[in-house]
Amino acid sequence: MRLVFLGPPGAGKGTVAGLLSARQGVIHIGSGDLLREAAAQGEPLGRKARGYMEKGALVPDELVTGMVLGFLEKLEGSQGFVLDGFPRTARQAEDLDEALARWNHRPVHLAVNFTVSREKIVERLSGRRVCSQCGTPFHTATLRPKKEGVCDRCGGALAIRPDDESQTVLKRLDVYEETARPLLDFYERQGKLRSFPVGRGLEEEYGSLVELLTAERLLNQG
Ligand code: ADP
Ligand code: ZN
Repeated sequence: MRLVFLGPPGAGKGTVAGLLSARQGVIHIGSGDLLREAAAQGEPLGRKARGYMEKGALVPDELVTGMVLGFLEKLEGSQGFVLDGFPRTARQAEDLDEALARWNHRPVHLAVNFTVSREKIVERLSGRRVCSQCGTPFHTATLRPKKEGVCDRCGGALAIRPDDESQTVLKRLDVYEETARPLLDFYERQGKLRSFPVGRGLEEEYGSLVELLTAERLLNQG
């Protein structure tokens, strides 16, 4: 299956994508993760991206698209993937389709649109913690690590992402609301857009995603 996850920051796209990847063996590609990694390694791309990310603005298409497509190009044409955080603009979605066609890779099956209230988003992002070593996401209320402040997976220290500070969160939400419509329309026109309400527990959400993917014949039940 080849999926893109759409929806506002804090909807839990990365967390659900991580679970889908672990349980179904699809590759999880998070554009924000790739950008943060590039920034942490001091790569020129990461240095350019950092300023936009800290302000809560979108990183320009020409920086992000090349990075994500470079990653996808290395996959087998038949390999399943879930893209989380990319595409974020209609332009990125067009470039993704063009690249897949150019490489004779199979097209995106479905765009799963995570929908959630603004209050819930602020709640989720204010409690979000991420592992400073491996990037695994946690939450102080809803997805707590076994030991406070420590990653279950690798023992790394948990940290608050700089762009999860409350002012930046509101800015990211505004940016999302200004840019999302053309992107949603793009997939709507292709008949690939599916609405996916979130805001319950992770396992419950994962269960309804499995139902959705099964109904779309992208997953065999069991
Ligand atoms: P969230 O979904 O919670 O905002 P991400 O990790 O997906 O978190 O993204 C963090 C930041 O990285 C965004 O605010 C933006 O600056 C940048 N970014 C990530 N993906 C893209 C993209 N596809 N296009 C432009 N900017 C992006
Ligand atoms: Zn970790």
